[in-house]
Amino acid sequence: MTLEFQQTSIVANLLVGNFIGNLVYFFLVDYVGVVVSLELRDLLVRGVNPIINPHGLNSSLDEFLSVYGGGYLKNITSIVKDITGRTYYLSQMAPADEEHPSFFTDLLEAAESIGFGVSAYVNVFADSFYAADSRFETQQGNGKGLEVFVCPNKPEFHRHMVTVVKEVAKFKVPRLFLGNLGYARKDCCVCEDCRAEFSNYLGLRYSFKGPDSLEVEQYQKWVFWRLMKINDIVQRLIEAAKDVNSDIDVIPIFPVDPELGFFRNFKEGFGIDIQTIARAANHIALEINPYTPILPNPDSSEFNKFVDNLCLISDLRSDGVEFSMIHGVIENEEDYSHAKALAEAVGIKQFYTQITYPPGFRTLREERLGLR
Ligand SMILES: [Zn+2]
Repeated sequence: MTLEFQQTSIVANLLVGNFIGNLVYFFLVDYVGVVVSLELRDLLVRGVNPIINPHGLNSSLDEFLSVYGGGYLKNITSIVKDITGRTYYLSQMAPADEEHPSFFTDLLEAAESIGFGVSAYVNVFADSFYAADSRFETQQGNGKGLEVFVCPNKPEFHRHMVTVVKEVAKFKVPRLFLGNLGYARKDCCVCEDCRAEFSNYLGLRYSFKGPDSLEVEQYQKWVFWRLMKINDIVQRLIEAAKDVNSDIDVIPIFPVDPELGFFRNFKEGFGIDIQTIARAANHIALEINPYTPILPNPDSSEFNKFVDNLCLISDLRSDGVEFSMIHGVIENEEDYSHAKALAEAVGIKQFYTQITYPPGFRTLREERLGLR
């Protein structure tokens, strides 16, 4: 039996809607063309760990497991709280996905009887359910709210995420990935709460307008303040998971994309102090080229430059930090060989790929790149 999604090309997916891509992205993917398409089975045989979401299966869970459950599947990672803010299990706090409210718990049950491992993936600040509420929206430089990302400085949302993380950790999964941490981008967040709190931190009597209005020294404090905020909440989420499951490996995920300057954008863009977070978590996953799908050819000088841009990995590894790598949706032999070459060049063994991009990814990507 062959499932439909195995043969679905990225180009076709782009046309289906709710999917990645603006015109540039579309062009890039289309330009490369299909080389030798790979099926999920091919990836499993090669030891690639799939990340699934129920909307991307194009089949029921039972059908999926009837094809892959016996033998091929060793470990699988399921998104449990999606970019939509909805969960694939029944949460006390978060709204459940209307179509697949118990997908994750069904998967866990099947895994136990068939015998494969299940890890979980929770989206943190990409949450379009909360972002639709003006109390939680993150505001960009022009004062407009984003559709997917929420403001990372709302205590009520922190409590929400702590609850979700605890609920998921209670399922006794060995690994919990935390996706979409940090600020959406450099010009966020200038919501009323962030401006008031930072003005207070600076000792200003007025609420500042935004980072562009700050003097150099004040701007440095702004960058530091954002880092502190994210360090604090990531640390809280790691502790929350470990409180209920001391063996759990909590793995923050960070997008590393040439379009966003690799690691260079982390501090000022996402408010991410990767050194501190990596040492706190002991394990991080780099999501390579999530927004620029094409990886460089291993024989090119561009590839060597790419590897040079990832040199931070070896520094952190010498401190005992473990790394995993995630790369988009691998469609063909070329995608696979380029991603594999990159993982080998930087010494990363644990390699993950999404079967399909989750609902809302297109909007998320545009928000990250400042296209909306
Ligand atoms: Zn804010």
